[in-house]
Order: sequence, then structure tokens, then C-alpha cells
Amino acid sequence: MNKEFSISTKARYQLIDISAQVEEIIRESKIKNGLAFIFTPHSTAAILLTENESGLKQDWLEVFKKIVSGFDFLHNQIDDNADSHILSGLVGQGKTLAIENNKLIRGTWQQIFLVELDGPKTRKVMVKYLDATHPPPR
Ligand code: ZN
Repeated sequence: MNKEFSISTKARYQLIDISAQVEEIIRESKIKNGLAFIFTPHSTAAILLTENESGLKQDWLEVFKKIVSGFDFLHNQIDDNADSHILSGLVGQGKTLAIENNKLIRGTWQQIFLVELDGPKTRKVMVKYLDATHPPPR
């Protein structure tokens, strides 16, 4: 099964907590046990698990800037966003989480974030889930 939603971002680099939207999709799925794949179909955005704390979110943005500073990127001759593509690849464009008792298994400080790396843009987030309950419901 597959569900998706869109997020409008506001800055070039930005972390947006999407935990509530993703948990709502899982709740509506009624799946007790299974897997969820959270994916953003963009090569200049990413999905990250981290704590939703304002200082830490700023820290991430600083790290992103430093990782890609000091390079003379060839791709920038085309559309000036090599940093965005590289960070997107490093952070990863999807995460897989287990579903147990109709909730995602994650720690207290593991919120799910869409990471904007070339905003502002409208980004799609897809949630694909697999039901591993035996026997399957319905
Ligand atoms: Zn590009």
C-alpha cells in the first residue's frame, strides 16, 4: 500500500518534522505488524531520524553547510545545486521502520524529518507499507 503527502518548504536548508503525518498514515492502515518505507522522490531532499530540538536542528544545518564547503563542484555549471544533491545522497532519500501494534518502532528522540536541501520547494513524501500480520486482515 502506498500513501503520500506534500510539504511546502520555506528555506534552502530546512528540517521539517513529519512524524505526525507518517504515524497517521500507519494508524489509518490498521496494520498491526509490518514495515513502513518512508521515501522522498527528490534528489535534493532527504529523510532523517533525529531529535526535534531547536538547537540540534540548527546544528544539523551547520554540519550540512560545512560538509559541502570548499568544493568547486562541476554540477554547479549546470544548475548550481551540487551541494543539495550530495547532501541528499549522504543523508539518504528513504528510511525503513518496523510497525508493531499499529505504531512505528522508534525511540523517544527519533522524530522523522523531511530534510529540504534546495528549497523553498514543494516536496512529496511517500509512505509504502507492508503488512506482515498472520493471517492478513480483511
Ligand atoms: Zn542539480
